Amino acid sequence: MQDVSEFPAEVVPWLKQQFQSIVEQAENNRLPHALLLGGESHLGKTSFALTFANYLLCKHSEQGQICGNCKGCHLTRAGNHPDLKLIEPVESRIIVVNTIRELVHWANQTAQQGGNKVVIIKPAEAMNVAAANALLKCLEEPVSNTVIILVSDRPGSLLATIRSRCQRILIGNPNRQQAESYLLERLSAVEDIPLLLDISRGRPLKALEMHGLGTLEQRKLLHRVLQKLWSGDLLAHEAAKQLLQSDPEQILEMLYLWLAEMIKHTQIKDFNSIKNKELSDLFNQICKVKGLTGIYRCYDHVFEQWTALLSASNPNKQLVVENVLVKFAALAPDRLN
Ligand SMILES: [Zn+2]
Repeated sequence: MQDVSEFPAEVVPWLKQQFQSIVEQAENNRLPHALLLGGESHLGKTSFALTFANYLLCKHSEQGQICGNCKGCHLTRAGNHPDLKLIEPVESRIIVVNTIRELVHWANQTAQQGGNKVVIIKPAEAMNVAAANALLKCLEEPVSNTVIILVSDRPGSLLATIRSRCQRILIGNPNRQQAESYLLERLSAVEDIPLLLDISRGRPLKALEMHGLGTLEQRKLLHRVLQKLWSGDLLAHEAAKQLLQSDPEQILEMLYLWLAEMIKHTQIKDFNSIKNKELSDLFNQICKVKGLTGIYRCYDHVFEQWTALLSASNPNKQLVVENVLVKFAALAPDRLN
């Protein structure tokens, strides 16, 4: 159930202080039975949870440091520690009730290595209602020496009764300097760092992922295609073909984030802090022609189609992207009149 590739995990620099304080709680025997690590994706929650699990299972940990040599550490790294469970949705993107029932059964057994037992559920919001209710019972009757760590990108969507039974740890963004120095240590394309951080909304791990996926190149392509589409130099199906050379999920995510940003800045009338400056002229023209209502409709549509792409239903990607582009092209002034 564990993914061995995730160990050894390391706490990202901007979460070290929070990590240290939870370690102190553990060392003073004040650790609650359940923790909820909540905050946006790509901020280091998973590595925080895994490192803490490793810490709880290490036989000779000291001041938050694992020894790396004991049986607990070896088993954790090998991905087969019998007292550690990592629960994630598989193909359906849902954590079902049977998985949680098995977990409750497992939690009530004695620890095989005679120490702590740790469960990580991620993302916790993937539990359906029945699964969440089953977990609630487990939280209401905690088992000694068993720690449940919930990891959630959307903690607000969890049952209030679950949230209230966990110690909540709010995971926030690093400041700009921390984020930049983290990326400087990992990326040779130094000149891309400010833009990567801007478009990842200050999340260094997202910036790294974007770099790996060639997002900046995709972004340029998207800009070119949108401009041509709106000026009538490209038809939607031709534009979709060009964009499909890139990752369609990324393309729709970028379009969605761009629209979201523009809407926000239009509403608060603050154009100086716009990250996607290249497209702001285009956006302003659209705003003049169709007003914000037209843009909202397009935004809703992009969001719908983007989530459809991410869903398990496996839609036709060319069609999904084409659909979005048809809507987008419809925002242009009617050239026939
Ligand atoms: Zn150890």
